[in-house]
Amino acid sequence: MLSVDEVCSLIDREVRPGPPVRLPLALALGHYLAEEIRADADMPAFDRAAIDGYALPENALPGWYKVVGEVTPGMPPFSAPTSGTAVKIFTGSALPGSGVGLVMVEETESEGQKVLTRVAASGRHVRARGSQAKRGQLLLAVGTRVNPGAIALLASVGVTSPLVSNTPKIMHLVTGSELVGADLDPSAGFIRDSNSPLMAALIAEAGPGTLTQRRGSESVDEAVDALESFDGDMLLISGGASVGAYDGSMQILRRLGFAIHCSKVRSRPGKPLLFATRDRCAAFGLPGNPLSHFVCFHLFIRRTLDIMWGRVPQRMIRVHLDGDRPPTDPRETWWPARVSAEAGSLIAKALPWKDSSDLTGLALANALLRIGSSPTNGMFEALVFGNFVP
Ligand code: AMP
Ligand code: MG
Repeated sequence: MLSVDEVCSLIDREVRPGPPVRLPLALALGHYLAEEIRADADMPAFDRAAIDGYALPENALPGWYKVVGEVTPGMPPFSAPTSGTAVKIFTGSALPGSGVGLVMVEETESEGQKVLTRVAASGRHVRARGSQAKRGQLLLAVGTRVNPGAIALLASVGVTSPLVSNTPKIMHLVTGSELVGADLDPSAGFIRDSNSPLMAALIAEAGPGTLTQRRGSESVDEAVDALESFDGDMLLISGGASVGAYDGSMQILRRLGFAIHCSKVRSRPGKPLLFATRDRCAAFGLPGNPLSHFVCFHLFIRRTLDIMWGRVPQRMIRVHLDGDRPPTDPRETWWPARVSAEAGSLIAKALPWKDSSDLTGLALANALLRIGSSPTNGMFEALVFGNFVP
């Protein structure tokens, strides 16, 4: 039986990133950048007015000035106003290179072609060339998730088809004769399949993936038939990962030509875990219990996806525990918890959890607390996700 850290090392050794692709900007939301993005010019590229008002020679004193022209956004830069004159200017307009100060319209009174300024003209309201970023400056690092702010930044530097990491093709086969769809009323002995929607949501939250899901019985032949033509990057089999009479995931993976690297991990929940590979495809046989599915996703599948996306796998953070320490077990326990920042510290509250089919507290979880080795300085390690993932 391997430790969680040993399985993580196996994943690091066996999994490789897929080839990056270019996507139109409009489709890049939620993807991870596979190239660094630098400023294509100084930002802003020219000195711009940040206000509506008047441009005068820099430091021109309060007083009357003759208005000799007007400049609006999109007009080429005008020549600097000469002594005793002013140019009306609007927000976003280009200023000439230097020697110009601005006065806000609110600090003036105008009369015909003349304007009275109540304050001295200054550089305060100028958005100076290069004040946000210099040409060539790094704006977004490789691995950054493209969010709405990144989309705007990419557009502003002219990147209309960013290079992003490959979108893994994922198959999730959910086995179990006791399962019915969540839209049905299960008769006695049957239960609703919660793993299919759970896995779809976990992947969607983590990043891009093209997911196909199927539901089937425990039959190995049926599963092999269903999976034979799958030629994607990740295969997930729910249920049947253990060694019972109806646990066929190991056989399914072997018959499909996968090399099995691990069949058990010293963790609770999630002990029967299969990790296997075939060429570039990584496969996991996961326990059917929903909480095992949840924990195995965060410990192992998320890590595998991160590597496929060309990202550095997530690291644990250290948190203080509020309340009683959850019970220990010979296996390392990953306890669902809610971490929040309180008075400058990260505080974890363990959520109620009866057994690995218990989903009742899961909606509040944003971390898994690592309960096993003794805490250091009263602090526990936690793997955070959801709202906590940077
Ligand atoms: P298994 O790993 O197939 O032995 O399943 C372990 C437990 O998880 C059993 O109690 C199953 O009924 C339950 N289970 C299996 N698959 C699912 C699923 N898709 N949704 C909810 N519970 C499941
Ligand atoms: Mg089963």
